[in-house]
Amino acid sequence: MDAARRVLDADVEVRGGKITAVRRRTGHGHGAGRALDCSGLILVPGLVQAHIHLCQTLFRGLADDLTLEDWLAKRIWPLEAAHTPDTVYWSAMLGAAELLLGGTTAILDMETVRHTDAAFQALEEIGLRATAGKCLMDAATNSAGLFEPTGRALQEAADLCARWHGAAQGRLRYCFAPRFAPSCTGPLLRAVSDAAEKAGAVMHTHAAETPVELELVKRATGQDEIAYLDSMGIAGPRAALAHCVWVDRESIGQMARAGTNVVHCPSSNLKLGSGIAPIPEMLAAGCHVALGADGAPCNNRLDGFEEMRLAALIQKPRLGPDALPAAKVLELATLGGARALGLEHEIGSIEVGKRADLVAVDLSGPHGQPADADLASRLVYAARAADVRHVVVDGRIVVRSGRLLTADLEEIRVKANAAARRLRRAVGL
Ligand SMILES: [Zn+2]
Repeated sequence: MDAARRVLDADVEVRGGKITAVRRRTGHGHGAGRALDCSGLILVPGLVQAHIHLCQTLFRGLADDLTLEDWLAKRIWPLEAAHTPDTVYWSAMLGAAELLLGGTTAILDMETVRHTDAAFQALEEIGLRATAGKCLMDAATNSAGLFEPTGRALQEAADLCARWHGAAQGRLRYCFAPRFAPSCTGPLLRAVSDAAEKAGAVMHTHAAETPVELELVKRATGQDEIAYLDSMGIAGPRAALAHCVWVDRESIGQMARAGTNVVHCPSSNLKLGSGIAPIPEMLAAGCHVALGADGAPCNNRLDGFEEMRLAALIQKPRLGPDALPAAKVLELATLGGARALGLEHEIGSIEVGKRADLVAVDLSGPHGQPADADLASRLVYAARAADVRHVVVDGRIVVRSGRLLTADLEEIRVKANAAARRLRRAVGL
């Protein structure tokens, strides 16, 4: 994924967490370092998913086949309100384990209103690169279990930012995460824009996911949602807006001019029946686009390969088979995600000077053959998360031969199940 999109038969040398050389393959390691044998495998930049809710991983299978409004009000908000530090921790561990094992090395994550420290602790331990933030919900219309007064919400966000922005040698970062326009007041959105600018942090929110949401914002503000967010300072290269399904030409032009990041979540948009985001139109207008799986209860996987394949496929019935080709989708899943995290100079490609976030994929199975076919096509249309063999984040081997090295998967399974049972009991599901 360098500027020339080169495909090389090469060794990648990593020192101090950085890629220090990409050179012709010699078959043996250079110098005194350890070698991770990737012969026969395809080494790609780690996938970046720019819209995830780790706090919802325990809700997988508990909120199926509902409209977004019912999905939120009847299931997701009560479950989030029932979270404890322990359940947030195991929800994050379960989600992060799935992401790492499936070749995702970096995420932009929206947590719930409380216990965000517990999610950061899990991320610190398991070794995923993450920009995460507590969810901000200060509008009086919010469900009682999640509502917070503006000042308290902003203060906790600032405290979390001070603790976690740049932690784990820069692998962890903070984002300011208003849930979506209808759940936030104007003063909070403006304060978020200022705080993000001051901290050098990303703003992460949902936008234009359903017509109901657009109507709510229109009634409250008299403005189109994208224009309203723009007027509050939630726009530009620091902003990542998940979904953007219901956007017209004007909104698309506005996001393109501002350099706002759009995060496309095709599985989530299909499962909740939200619609198909006009991604090819956004790209043609010059918008910055990344991909994300959203949360486990609206997907129900956190599989970056699945999102790539679906992102390409869902445009084709509408615009023809040449809409959103494989190579472009691979770019959205790597460099596009890196840009949404504000890390385009750090990750997203295998290039000297970038952080070593690398994934080795095994496409020797029948579904990955023949081997001479176009590599982007094999990765986007044929590869699966289960094909991931090795994963390196920030120069550290976190998955080797399909095995998670940084946490005990069996323990995660047991503890996550117990935590999910507690949450279900708490909300009577
Ligand atoms: Zn979401």
